Amino acid sequence: MRFVDEYRDKEQVRSLVRAIRQVVTRPWHIMEICGGQTHAIARYRLEEMLPEEVKLLHGPGCPVCVTPVGIIDRALELAKRPDVILASFGDMMRVPGSREDLLQIKARGADIRILYSPLDAVSLAADHPDKKIVFFAIGFETTAPVHMMALKEAARRKLGNFYLHTSLFTVPPAIEAILSDPESRVDGFLAAGHVCAITGNGAYRHLAEKYKTPIVVTGFEPADLLLGIYCCLLQLEAGIYKVENVYKRVVPEEGNLPARALMEETLELCDQEWRGLGTIPQSGLRLKEIFARQDASHLLPALDAKAHKQCLEATALGVEKGQCIAGDIMRGTKQTKDCPFFGTLCTPDHPVGVPMVSSEGVCAAYYRYK
Ligand code: SF4
Repeated sequence: MRFVDEYRDKEQVRSLVRAIRQVVTRPWHIMEICGGQTHAIARYRLEEMLPEEVKLLHGPGCPVCVTPVGIIDRALELAKRPDVILASFGDMMRVPGSREDLLQIKARGADIRILYSPLDAVSLAADHPDKKIVFFAIGFETTAPVHMMALKEAARRKLGNFYLHTSLFTVPPAIEAILSDPESRVDGFLAAGHVCAITGNGAYRHLAEKYKTPIVVTGFEPADLLLGIYCCLLQLEAGIYKVENVYKRVVPEEGNLPARALMEETLELCDQEWRGLGTIPQSGLRLKEIFARQDASHLLPALDAKAHKQCLEATALGVEKGQCIAGDIMRGTKQTKDCPFFGTLCTPDHPVGVPMVSSEGVCAAYYRYK
């Protein structure tokens, strides 16, 4: 398949590994941001090909993993309403809230539909005018434009019964939170190509300069990832710290201008809680006031201060039985091998933490491929 096979070519992979071995003179830690990249790294066993000086860390780029407990609990409340059909990506079904998950309440009769696109939820709204259709819109800058397309399409079709329950995140503030952590071990980043395909690369430049950390925009195939690692190492070994785009076949410098314009029209930045990481200032996206009518949070009573505090505390404590170290793994201070539950108490069939449930979760990747 064109644009795929050449980036899985064994000879190309071998030659990149050779080049990496030649350039490395000392230990380095490189973090890939995206869960899709983590899965590719595990699937193609790239870590095993690298010299022992190069360690890969796996960042917080799985939106399912970082969606906080409070937002899951609100989705559960919405789904329990008899006048609501809650639509969601399949990944969300087994993500634990503070007491239960969507699959459990679906089994008890809640009308929850698994969809592949928020645009399918618009059709659902047209087909069920007597119901409120709530799409559980999670994701990073990659998927936010598609959610906003659905919002605008529902408005265009005058579907007053379409709502979004949002859990939307932006990547650069998370990178900054990791880099400003005194315990951080990250020397360089591989930025997620599909996010930059929307946002462009500009938002990363000041981070590379401020924290003296190379950020290399990278794709998802083995040769893409190894090239990203190689370019990151070249910078580190030479003491250069800049944003470099090695995924130019997909990522234009300025990103996707229509998608950016749509996000600017509909969304605004807000402080956002990340499961396992805590609250990161200005790292979330919420609907602008002019779209408030389509914000599903208005279907529920507002959280009072006490309930809001309880939600925050539940996440801070880790409702994953208090023992999941996913936050430390996503911060780069620990690895899956440091978790005593990995593969024993915590498996995809019996997950303790979200990264073992989500198809983009780091623990699921290691369990499946290693
Ligand atoms: S193996 Fe399970 S408990 Fe351990 S960090 Fe991963 S998700 Fe959390």
